[in-house]
Amino acid sequence: MSRRIIPILDQRTNAAVTPFTAISSTGLLLDSLQRPLRDLRISVTDRCNFRCIYCMPRSVFDQHYPYLPHSSLLTFEEITRTARLLVAHGVNKIRLTGGEPLLRKNLERLVAMLRALPTPDGLPLDITLTTNGALLAQKARLLKQAGLNRVTVSLDALDDEIFKRMNDADFSVAEVLHGLEVAHQEGLGPVKINMVVKKGVNDQQILPMARHFKGTPFTLRLIEYMDVGASNGWKMDEVVPSAEVINQLNASSADMQLIPQAANYPGETAQRWNYRDGSGEIGLISSVTQAFCQDCTRLRLSTEGKLYTCLFASQGYDVRTLLREQSDDSQLSSAMAQLWQQRGDRYSEIRHQQTGLAPKIEMSYIGG
Ligand code: SAM
Ligand code: SF4
Ligand code: SF4
Repeated sequence: MSRRIIPILDQRTNAAVTPFTAISSTGLLLDSLQRPLRDLRISVTDRCNFRCIYCMPRSVFDQHYPYLPHSSLLTFEEITRTARLLVAHGVNKIRLTGGEPLLRKNLERLVAMLRALPTPDGLPLDITLTTNGALLAQKARLLKQAGLNRVTVSLDALDDEIFKRMNDADFSVAEVLHGLEVAHQEGLGPVKINMVVKKGVNDQQILPMARHFKGTPFTLRLIEYMDVGASNGWKMDEVVPSAEVINQLNASSADMQLIPQAANYPGETAQRWNYRDGSGEIGLISSVTQAFCQDCTRLRLSTEGKLYTCLFASQGYDVRTLLREQSDDSQLSSAMAQLWQQRGDRYSEIRHQQTGLAPKIEMSYIGG
């Protein structure tokens, strides 16, 4: 068989990531800023049953929106093959996302296939899932049995009216709370709760959310509203900086005092804070006000098989063609390795120069 390596092509520009050389899998692959490849986020669908105003506003994602046809989606076999080669290059954590990942039929089958992948150091892969929680109660047991480690559940408010205004699809807080309770009971913990804070919309819910989850097995993480995609009409003055969130909690009462914690590992997205009274922690994800690009070890695989080296990338690199053209493993593996080696993304660090200039990919397409 020929040892020629086929370039990964960007379908829009046909720009190849050439020149190519065979790159062997050693379990350590560094990008141009010396960041190792460690995390793979896999989007399994571009569809969602919610219409969160900051992610899939109904005015854009209506019945005319051109969702991907089923034939464009990577199959579970194609996803697993891609993941297997990336694990051999050092990926040790896989997050399934979307769109709403639980809308993808038989997702537990994919989890079981990923669970069976060998790792270079023989340690088990960390496999997690981010979900809006609506279908979690009915799927949690199957996912756990298939080998899923943990789930992160998105919940933006405790007040039903505010939550419904944010998800714009009439889902109630009670449905999500039930989902995360079942996930916890099935052993998919520690369950993390993601709350995106948008000024003037749900910032008054920060304290009720923090109080609700304080002292429980659930860890709340407050996320700065980000300028992902092009459809949410993002404005900087709608962001509540994490520093303000901390001040708000510290100023609220004696039992909400927080102390910063050291990161668990390099590249951890959330800054962790512990309650001074020992009743657990909360996390702050400050991707707008405090860039964490220097430790970013994440690669994203879109629903239709494009690799993105940054959440804010405007171009992805097509691996589906390679998967479907019967390239051998070495060709595919080397092409993906080369893409990572050339990576120099650090969008959040240079956001102030970039915002609004380049077209960006939607969060619902690429996953969080
Ligand atoms: N549907 C699933 C969910 O909502 O958990 C998974 C996909 S969703 C795109 C992943 C995460 O991205 C969610 O926690 C969501 O709140 C977050 N997200 C979406 N749009 C965002 C934005 N503009 N800024 C910050 N976080 C955002
Ligand atoms: Fe759907 Fe998640 Fe986006 Fe909300 S944040 S619209 S639940 S993909
Ligand atoms: Fe990683 Fe890009 Fe986010 Fe920076 S902006 S942390 S490089 S995904």
